[in-house]
Amino acid sequence: MCEVAALLSIEEAQRLILERAQPLEAERVELGELAGRVTAEPASAGLDLPPFDSSAMDGFAVRIEDTPGRLPVVGRIPAGRPANRELAPGEAMGIATGGAVPLGADAVLPLEYVVEHDNEIEIADAVRAGANVRPRGGDVGRGDLVVAQGERLGPAQLGALAASGVADILSSRRPRATVLATGTELRRPGEKLAPGEIYEANSVLLSAQLESAGALVTRLDAVADDEGVHRDALAAGLGADLLVTSGGVSVGPHDLVRAVGKELGVEEVFWGVSVKPGKPLWFGVRGRTLVFGLPGNPVSTLVCFELFVRPAVLALQGASDPLPRFDPGRLTRAVWPNATRTELLRARSNVVDGAVEVDVLRGQESHMIARSAGADALVLIPAGGEELRAGSTVNYLRLA
Ligand code: AMP
Ligand code: MG
Repeated sequence: MCEVAALLSIEEAQRLILERAQPLEAERVELGELAGRVTAEPASAGLDLPPFDSSAMDGFAVRIEDTPGRLPVVGRIPAGRPANRELAPGEAMGIATGGAVPLGADAVLPLEYVVEHDNEIEIADAVRAGANVRPRGGDVGRGDLVVAQGERLGPAQLGALAASGVADILSSRRPRATVLATGTELRRPGEKLAPGEIYEANSVLLSAQLESAGALVTRLDAVADDEGVHRDALAAGLGADLLVTSGGVSVGPHDLVRAVGKELGVEEVFWGVSVKPGKPLWFGVRGRTLVFGLPGNPVSTLVCFELFVRPAVLALQGASDPLPRFDPGRLTRAVWPNATRTELLRARSNVVDGAVEVDVLRGQESHMIARSAGADALVLIPAGGEELRAGSTVNYLRLA
């Protein structure tokens, strides 16, 4: 495994993972429960939207051929209560924003443009046909696609579905994920540290990442580097759709996750990716359970999750576009690429003169998790080549 040439590229590793991350069974879910969920069917509008010609303003519905001119106001139309008759020539009707434009009318004049006296309005200028009328179906037509299959539903999509009359939709069930940190040295924050011990950071970090990706998380107590306790904890975790461990996947004598995982029937898909941090990443499957053994350094855990685990969690939910999205930004200072491995650097992004600048943090070693608190982005630096100068364009991934 230590042969650099044997390491997979990030893309190859992602491909092997996504091949095995098939969507879970779909269930019908009500709109109010769908935030962050992924659609397992396309959703189309059940009606034209708006469903009728509606007014964009508080004002008066008129016939354009009557403008300019003086017109009697023969009725008032609130939202939700259409007029009970057509607008006849030579008439105006008061209308509220969202009110149904009466038959016969072909424009709405805003209140502010009209002088009203004794139920009569005076219109100074000619009005354009369709002015301030939102035509029926102008947003979307009945039967038109509103949200495609495989989309993750955020506020905009949910609003669109609700307005389109969609009350529920098929969605793959949320993946159940188990998180297990390994390492004899790990103590829970709040406990007293004995010499040689450190606080356990990865399980809470991973749980937050998993939840943000849509998973239902069970966080197990961290286990010592002991085969027996590894066996029990891994066996418990393998009941989930996704088992994510941290630590114990390197080459040391106390790195037990792979050996014990294999004993429990986990089939190794790969071990080792050409990425910094995160090289010893281990991935396997048992039945339909995906097993990720992430390296223990907390920054490796953070990075490996974004590159490899989040895509899997999204793919299990049927997302059509599960891979991370990198955007261009400019370096604020020079960076030397790693000779052989693609590197992900923690950075702070800022918008300067309308463009994104990424400020790569000082101190990029994979144990330096406390410094990550200032990061909101991971900058991708491909392996090899010359120094990237300040001002160079690079790709960065926004941290959720
Ligand atoms: P390992 O991958 O088990 O060799 O661990 C690599 C480094 O990460 C060691 O310094 C560990 O102490 C540290 N480490 C492992 N797991 C955690 C964790 N859950 N929280 C904080 N540090 C960890
Ligand atoms: Mg360890």
